[in-house]
Amino acid sequence: MSAHLTTVAGVPVDTRHWIGGERVASAATFTDTSPIDGAPLAEISRGTPAEAAAAVAAARAAFPGWAATPPAERARLLRAVADGVDRRLEDLSLVETTDNGALLRSHRRGVMPRVAHNFRFFADRLEELEHEDFTTRDHTNHVTWDPAGPCVLITPWNAPLMLATWKVAPALAAGNTVVLKPAEWSPLTASLLADIAAEAGLPPGVLNVLQGYGSEVGDALTSHPDVRRISFTGSVPTARHIAASAAPHLTPLSLELGGKSPLLVFADADLDLAADLAVEQYDNAGQVCLAATRILVEESVAEEFTRRFVDRASRLRQGDPRDEATDIGPNIHPRQLDKIDGFVRRALADGARAVIGGHRGEGQYYAPTLLTDVRQDSEIVQEEVFGPVLTLQTFTGEDEAVRLANDTRFGLAATLVTGDPSRAARVSARLVAGTVWVNCFFVRDLRAPFGGSRDSGVGREGGNWSFDFYCDVKNTVTAPKGWNDHG
Ligand code: NAD
Repeated sequence: MSAHLTTVAGVPVDTRHWIGGERVASAATFTDTSPIDGAPLAEISRGTPAEAAAAVAAARAAFPGWAATPPAERARLLRAVADGVDRRLEDLSLVETTDNGALLRSHRRGVMPRVAHNFRFFADRLEELEHEDFTTRDHTNHVTWDPAGPCVLITPWNAPLMLATWKVAPALAAGNTVVLKPAEWSPLTASLLADIAAEAGLPPGVLNVLQGYGSEVGDALTSHPDVRRISFTGSVPTARHIAASAAPHLTPLSLELGGKSPLLVFADADLDLAADLAVEQYDNAGQVCLAATRILVEESVAEEFTRRFVDRASRLRQGDPRDEATDIGPNIHPRQLDKIDGFVRRALADGARAVIGGHRGEGQYYAPTLLTDVRQDSEIVQEEVFGPVLTLQTFTGEDEAVRLANDTRFGLAATLVTGDPSRAARVSARLVAGTVWVNCFFVRDLRAPFGGSRDSGVGREGGNWSFDFYCDVKNTVTAPKGWNDHG
């Protein structure tokens, strides 16, 4: 076996970059560990700025050929990638769970099928993409989506392959070439995606995967003059850095960032549904950008809601994410665990009360936590924790509910539970959020726009919004025959 192959959960994974259709090793490596037990999994190529430049050069060299490939052929190749994901669904699920600690059953049943769907969806969309022509004083306006060029896609660790392919698939469908930089805490499935893409017949250089620390390779990617689009999912501070780095070339950015989303429970709500939705916020050990981490409950039902919530939360099973019975797995990294615990310690010192949890568990686990007696302007209410930590506040009436819900610098999502459809319409119209869920949570459709308001992001992806971002949208205006005849 090559020195660059490692076996994770029985699956061979190449630890090198994938650049121009070849595996490329860095001189240095970094150690990737499993959140399940902290065990080292692999020594991964630690990219350098020169390797980042080589990945962009490969994407640039492959761009004219891929952009000129007829849409039907591009769509065929994307569907072949989707078939490859389906064939390797079990491998991808096992490796992802071992690498990032999210539940194996979720990867098998939800996440990896969705990865394949990302490719099929954007292949289908590409073939349907058209804008109705219209006329201006007898001149025809014809709108087309032209490929933009090499795209840099930078992704986080909480849903690695799902979030990566939600960018890779539309970028490739649009006729662009890609450099994907996965997160250093969960780099493995991006490498498997490179294998799958190569097997599917994607030409060399169309998809490149660069491993490494964002702080070391990031600027070389995001300030590169040949890069035509940057799509980033991650934290607000990194987004600010990337925006500054991309500014000299005015490279268009799509930023999908953090959140501190509210879950509003009105007195007329089905409280069992509300408690179910609230407990769902512990999914993926709370490491979900969309998680509704601020529970806002109408005063008159707060006690009863809390009773039902605690009843459900106490039945959650925390443990090994490979076990079918587990509901909550570990957090990604000891540093993330320290960050979570720091937020909770400071909140408790500031007067918060832990209804449940409020402390670390064994190893890399954090006890599911609900904090109450929190002030609206406190850190725990205003800042994203990205762990299994929820706060509970009460309100009286719609105005106060909306005021509390909108009073953070984020605006990614909002969930409201009410039995009154007219209240649902009124309140959702007043909420600042890219997505509002009424009496449900996490219902997602690739046709829908996705993104955040305020510090939760810039731009929208999904459906044709993805093509609008990843393309140079062009309008061609043609004069009618005979218009310019002089004679
Ligand atoms: P992060 O910002 O630390 O890292 C994200 C990616 O950016 C990683 O690949 C990292 O290597 C890279 N990076 C770091 N420094 C860089 C630099 N200087 N230049 C270029 N790239 C750089 O975020 P994280 O901790 O990995 O992810 C958690 C964050 O992501 C949370 O805030 C979460 O809310 C957010 N998130 C948002 C969404 C969304 O769709 N809105 C989805 C998932 C996660």
